[in-house]
Amino acid sequence: MRYAVFSDVHSNLEAFEAVLEAAHKSHIDQYLFLGDIVGYGANPCECIAHLRKLCPLIVAGNHDWGVVGMTDLDYFNEEARASLVWTKEAIAEADRIFLSQLKLVQESVRFCIVHGTLSHPEEFDYMTDGQRAAKTFYLLEQEVCFVGHSHRPGVFVDDTEKIYYQVPKRLDIVKGRRYIVNDGSIGQPRDGDWRACFCIYDDNASTIEFRRVEYNIHEAQKKILEAGLPRILADRLSIGR
Ligand code: ZN
Repeated sequence: MRYAVFSDVHSNLEAFEAVLEAAHKSHIDQYLFLGDIVGYGANPCECIAHLRKLCPLIVAGNHDWGVVGMTDLDYFNEEARASLVWTKEAIAEADRIFLSQLKLVQESVRFCIVHGTLSHPEEFDYMTDGQRAAKTFYLLEQEVCFVGHSHRPGVFVDDTEKIYYQVPKRLDIVKGRRYIVNDGSIGQPRDGDWRACFCIYDDNASTIEFRRVEYNIHEAQKKILEAGLPRILADRLSIGR
């Protein structure tokens, strides 16, 4: 099976559609979505509609739960809070029901998916260091755990003797090792590269490939400003931070 693994769309329709086109050309069998379809951007309804059509295996992000009152708004910074209040008004009742039914963890035979960490999925911690990676590896029963949330693509590897971090363009899965793979972000990358980021996971070939896709960033920025959302949410897209 070939999986497109993606997350953190954040209502950025231009970025999402560019990634869907790239995925379509890559012969994808199934989609894995690691959370945060909404928040920050100006097209929450359209992004939710696209997502639902893909019938993905899906987990909740902090913004998805935040907009339906399942994560406290105190968790978020000022700009994120403003965008969540705006999003709450913008989406339909059916969208709210969809978001409120998302689970925190989904598992398959060879992988599992979660937005933040396996140790406290409901707290939406960031997978930023070896200690947090170790706690997730302790609970991980499969060879790969896909995570999002930090908006920075990268991989923690457990080679049974130590845990180390790398930022590869392509990963060959080695038998006996385990991996925590952050798929980056489609709608608001924070690794200094403005292009939308996602992964293609091929479980027959045992490979994971990181892809970057250009999109119409000016249109996405224009819509954020027109919606009256905080200017920084438009500006930061250009620098990928
Ligand atoms: Zn996010």
